[in-house]
Amino acid sequence: MTDIHAKTGSTGKTVSLTRNEDLVLTALRGESAPQTAYQLLDRLRADGIKAPLQVYRALRSLGDRRLVHRLESLNAFVACCHDHGEVRHSAVFAICDRCGRVDEFADTLVDEQLDALAGRMRFRMEQAAVEIRGVCGDCADEAGSAVEG
Ligand SMILES: [Zn+2]
Ligand SMILES: [Zn+2]
Repeated sequence: MTDIHAKTGSTGKTVSLTRNEDLVLTALRGESAPQTAYQLLDRLRADGIKAPLQVYRALRSLGDRRLVHRLESLNAFVACCHDHGEVRHSAVFAICDRCGRVDEFADTLVDEQLDALAGRMRFRMEQAAVEIRGVCGDCADEAGSAVEG
């Protein structure tokens, strides 16, 4: 199967995807909350994806190109919302434990700090993912107004 779709990445760069990769990426981009492989499988059955292996393979390939990220603490996946490009950015995820939304940030300051830390340990960092768990602004506002009013 060499059914390749050209797809525009988050910064307008074109990436080549197989049909399954395209389906998985599109499904993830339509969600603000992370999806497990099985949630993706359920959603994509109608599109002809029948086996978990098809989803895993697509996720691995998309992950290698950093178009999606795996959140270790949730064992779930999110679409990348920016282009890591050639630059080895760390990815920082803020995960709301109330509503489940995940926001991704890239911060050069974080990169520099992690680089410096790794350097002190004589360790060469190739990539890093930081997962911050807590309460998002919207949920905090809601909780605040509930208390006040
Ligand atoms: Zn990313
Ligand atoms: Zn929230």
